[in-house]
Amino acid sequence: MEETIFSKIIRKEIPADIVYQDDLVTAFRDINPQAPTHILIIPNKLIPTAADVEVEDEAALGRMFTVARKIAEKEGVAEDGYRLLVNCKEHGHQEVMHLHMHLFGGKPLGRMLSA
Ligand code: AMP
Repeated sequence: MEETIFSKIIRKEIPADIVYQDDLVTAFRDINPQAPTHILIIPNKLIPTAADVEVEDEAALGRMFTVARKIAEKEGVAEDGYRLLVNCKEHGHQEVMHLHMHLFGGKPLGRMLSA
């Protein structure tokens, strides 16, 4: 499996606005935000897509949710609510093949799907 730009962000080889990092996950602001708060939460291990997750990844996947909760509180979007989204492969419109959870918030986000 090939590394993406996200591995370079994890290793701090290219600039990114990292808001959280620990031994399992990294979170940084999306370069092209679709909402007032738009943060990506990713496992440090390269898991290309949601279709590639294994039992051994459960600690990192669980950490992604607890980190999302903490970031939402810090960003001030927890009370009004927010959206966590994972796109998977072509039909899910996944562009970067390193599993990532989007955290959107800061405004009413509308229905889940537009089509
Ligand atoms: P997805 O369509 O789910 O694969 O989303 C990929 C996301 O990664 C998009 O929202 C991009 O704006 C974001 N993105 C791509 N490159 C970078 C980068 N260097 N720093 C931050 N976000 C990025």
